[in-house]
Amino acid sequence: MRFLLAIICCKLLRLALRLLGRGGTALPGQVALRICPDMLSRLSRGVRVAVVTGTNGKTTTCRMLEKMLRDAGEDCFANRSGSNLERGITADFVSNADIFGRPRRRLAVIECDEAAFRRVCGELAPAVCVVTNVFRDQLDRYGEVTHTLGAIREGLDRAAHATVCLNADCSLTASLAADAPDRVRFFGVDAPLGGAAAVSDAPRCIFCGAQYEYDYHTFAHLGGFRCPKCGYSRTEPDVAVVSVGALTSEGSAAEVRIDGELFDVAVGLPGGYNLYNAAAALSAATALGVERRSAVRSLAHMESGFGRMERFEIGGTRITMVLVKNPAGCDRAIDYLRSLSGECTAVFCLNDNAADGTDVSWIWDAGFERLFDAGGAELRLIVSGERADDMRLRLKYAGADEGDIRVLRSQDELLEAVTSAGGEVCILPTYTAMLPLRAALAARCGRKEFWK
Ligand SMILES: [Zn+2]
Repeated sequence: MRFLLAIICCKLLRLALRLLGRGGTALPGQVALRICPDMLSRLSRGVRVAVVTGTNGKTTTCRMLEKMLRDAGEDCFANRSGSNLERGITADFVSNADIFGRPRRRLAVIECDEAAFRRVCGELAPAVCVVTNVFRDQLDRYGEVTHTLGAIREGLDRAAHATVCLNADCSLTASLAADAPDRVRFFGVDAPLGGAAAVSDAPRCIFCGAQYEYDYHTFAHLGGFRCPKCGYSRTEPDVAVVSVGALTSEGSAAEVRIDGELFDVAVGLPGGYNLYNAAAALSAATALGVERRSAVRSLAHMESGFGRMERFEIGGTRITMVLVKNPAGCDRAIDYLRSLSGECTAVFCLNDNAADGTDVSWIWDAGFERLFDAGGAELRLIVSGERADDMRLRLKYAGADEGDIRVLRSQDELLEAVTSAGGEVCILPTYTAMLPLRAALAARCGRKEFWK
């Protein structure tokens, strides 16, 4: 009875919010869970679930996996709205169920926040779990990386029947295999990707504390690591990017080995780090039974989503939006900016609301200095957001001429500057800075809001 009441309340609340022009899933889910605390486990009975967690790349990996499943003829749903905590996930399961709580689709791709992973895994009994990577995120939200890792480990313990897809190149993530060796599928990149090597998130062996040695680096602390003392080292991945071809602003080409079979892969998303997301998605899709060749083919037809390398074209201006939230993700966005040539407008929007992380000191750990190395694009700099002054100071210390940095405090000014810039514009916003900006740009392009 409570179960049915919870479903009805959740559906009605969501409908009401939609009629008000809002897309929230948190409140309806929260109300439903209050009425019926075990409803997520009841709603997911009979649904095969893939849960994706990790610090960076969750959303893109989910979009890739969803596309692979759809292209293979599977009828699946996903929590696309961006709410990846238990309450948002619950609301999405309610939307996928009829009024009696019976699922309409038998397969789900669920993005899950690291902090919610333990509970969500306990409720969903997933068939596949993916851990993309573990980086230092906003310290005020999660504490140290080892704490995040511990939370993910507890979640995997609860997902006793899941195939676990782990990043072989991340010494932190790969260490999770020690608890579930017989059901692990590794993915990774066998070659350097030209990203910045910064091992500060995980310099020392997680098992014995000795300093890692590296055969090669891909991004940050990811790469061919080994511990000289205890022998803990990178495992040969089941799904591996074996060589990297062209990396352009439209996408990347690579050769991928899946369980011993080689494929030429085109990934329709720019940024070399999307090869990691592609490998993660391939490993999960093939674990769910998608044919290898079909999964590979899906990657060529990807569209970016909701602030992750999302593109807008307005007049003669090409705008790319790259959500940033921590040093590692920001370094990847900087890699992307460095890959551009000619003149380019770079916009940094820094907010410090709860959803952004209230401590913005992480900007000092990202390598903005590299933007001013010789040989890159000629950048016109704009800073905005509630912490625009912190951002301006950071760029000044990174090597920018202070007089060259425009500070735009109002949303209208910023929008005007961005849309009239001409040429290439790259915006790096934190989460709450992204939301209004993205909505305004999407409206100008006639693109729908994500919940419609
Ligand atoms: Zn060691």
